[in-house]
Order: sequence, then structure tokens, then C-alpha cells
Amino acid sequence: MSKKTPYYHEVGKEVEVFEQSYKNKIPFLLKGPTGTGKSRFIEYMAHQLDTKLITIACHEETSSTDLIGRYIIKGAQTIWLDGPLTAAVKEGAIIYLDEIAEARPDVIVAIHSLTDHRRELYIDKLGENIKAHKNFMLVASFNPGYQRGFKELKPSTRQRFVAMAFDYPTEKIEIDILINETDIDASIAKKLVHIGGKIRNLTELGLTETVSTRLLVDAAKLIHSGLPKRLAVHVAVVEPLTDDLEVTNALRDLCDLMI
Ligand code: ADP
Repeated sequence: MSKKTPYYHEVGKEVEVFEQSYKNKIPFLLKGPTGTGKSRFIEYMAHQLDTKLITIACHEETSSTDLIGRYIIKGAQTIWLDGPLTAAVKEGAIIYLDEIAEARPDVIVAIHSLTDHRRELYIDKLGENIKAHKNFMLVASFNPGYQRGFKELKPSTRQRFVAMAFDYPTEKIEIDILINETDIDASIAKKLVHIGGKIRNLTELGLTETVSTRLLVDAAKLIHSGLPKRLAVHVAVVEPLTDDLEVTNALRDLCDLMI
């Protein structure tokens, strides 16, 4: 292994579960809100397993063609270009379909035969079936539908995966993450984590998503590089959360008291 190990603080049994899923060739689904360490965890596991990682950030325009491949015109010739999923299937990489529920329905259809005992990818434009390399693994994430604006994943798709929920870590782990990620003083890390915890408990604010570890890491980075603490918390934590002026002001006042 050449590259530096990505920093990942284990929160539960996810490392062991992932290793066993990999060994047994079962696709893995990470559920949970944004900024809770899902991508970092996959980077870490790919490094630990010494496997190449290909990440695709899915959005409403992501189609099976984007993943499988297409013909392109080069000079006078038409040549076939493998998409990232085909490349991963052939090379034996881990493919991480981030926010899979956002992609077009044909993406879900395309991965079906890869998620069961067949472990094959059908390329309709070539009329070919490709057997997955022994090290190929399909990983996907999605943001559960209890939050507004996010799409659901059908049970028939979900049941093709081993699934684990990712959530905000405990206070102690989150403080460790902030210190490791930014070298910030423990006392400031603790205050930031308390702010995160406090805002997460304010469910009456009706925020679409609440403070993620990512936002707290960003605030810690800004403070560590010299931005005044209150300003750092305003721009890294409060402003990204909401555009409602009243809520913004209330959160700013609260944070000013706590930092
Ligand atoms: P997600 O993929 O869930 O949206 P990320 O993996 O991008 O979230 O995490 C956002 C940031 O939060 C990371 O860049 C890292 O700084 C931090 N982070 C969150 N959870 C952890 C963790 N368990 N260990 C290390 N860093 C974490």
C-alpha cells in the first residue's frame, strides 16, 4: 500500500461488517444524512483492502449509459468507451454510487444482475454479458426519505444489499475527529461539538438537514487557520443550514454564547 491511510474513526462495527461483505461478495448500502463519514469510510476500506475505488456522485441526470459506457466518434471511427461501472467490473474495483436514489431508474435496472448470484453486467449496446472480477464490489449510499427533497429507494432494490446506518457520532468520537482532521485545540473542538449537539436537538426549527460532522470540521479548519471563532461558526455552521432570517439570527445568538 503506497498512499497514506485515510483517517477514519470507527463508530460501530462497520469495518468488520464491510470486510465480511467484501469477502462474501455482497453489495453494501450506507444509509444516512450527508456529512456523516460515509465517503471517508469507503475510502478507508478501499485502502485497507488494497482495492481501487471508483466514486460516482449520482444526480437526477445520471443514466445507465454514463455508468456502462458509450460509443464515441473518433476521426472516421466509432469506438466503444467503457463507463466507470464496466471498468470496475472488469478490473475488480470497488464502485461507490453515492446518492444512488437520485440517479435515473435505468441505473437501478443496470445493477440488478450485479447484485445477485450472477455478478454479471449486461451491456445491451454490445450485446455482451461481463462476469465481474473476483474483487469487484458494489457500494451505494442514500439519504433516507424522512427528509424532504430526497428520493426513496425501492424495497426490491434495498434488499439486494447489506445495509448500515450512519449517523452523527457520539460526543467523544466527534471531538476526536475534529482534532484529528484539523489539529484544533481540544477545548475548541469540545465547544464546536456541543454546538452541533445543541442544534441537532432543536428539531422544532424544521431544518431539512441539521449540523453534520463535515460542517463542524469546516468550522474547526477556519478557526485553526485564524478566522475569528464566532465568524467561523456563522459561516461554516449557521449559514449553510438555513436561509430563514429568523432561524439564522436565533442560531447565531445561540452559537455566540457557546463558542
Ligand atoms: P458523507 O459521505 O456521509 O456525506 P464524508 O465522508 O464526506 O460524509 O464526511 C465529511 C467529513 O466529516 C469528512 O471529510 C471528515 O472530515 C469528517 N468525518 C465524518 N465522520 C468521520 C469519521 N467517522 N472519521 C473521520 N472523519 C469523519
